[in-house]
Amino acid sequence: MAIQRTLSIIKPDATKRDVTGKINQMLETSGLRIVAQKRIKLSQDQAEGFYSVHKERPFYNDLVNFMMSGPVIVQVLEGENAVKLNRDVMGATNPEEADKGTIRAEVGLSIEANSVHGSDSEENAINEISFFFEDEEICP
Ligand code: ADP
Ligand code: MG
Repeated sequence: MAIQRTLSIIKPDATKRDVTGKINQMLETSGLRIVAQKRIKLSQDQAEGFYSVHKERPFYNDLVNFMMSGPVIVQVLEGENAVKLNRDVMGATNPEEADKGTIRAEVGLSIEANSVHGSDSEENAINEISFFFEDEEICP
């Protein structure tokens, strides 16, 4: 399996509770390197655009508002099989169903406030990374 990159977001529930270091320690310990990172407040356009695949879902408006409710950290992770590895370290969408030791099980609060986002395919990872980062902002 080749070296991949994936987009990670630390969500507002986690920046609010000052657990960004704990989350990134879990990511780094798993073998993922943070090769780009910024702390930003999402605009309405960014939050709606980023989650546009979910716009028909009943939770879409709440999700957009949640993602704008505080700062987020957007970051690019790099490593062997990074897309799946990040999803494995994150755990299931619902923290109540996430395996013990995963970020969502240890840090997540609810199915919405589940602390982290991770790209779900290599193709989406490429698109999501370019949503937030220019090539020259990525420093492996
Ligand atoms: P994942 O983040 O695990 O890829 P999805 O892509 O299905 O999950 O959903 C995107 C985000 O929308 C989730 O991480 C979560 O914040 C929110 N979400 C998903 N399902 C629900 C739900 N049933 N109710 C409220 N929010 C949800
Ligand atoms: Mg998803």
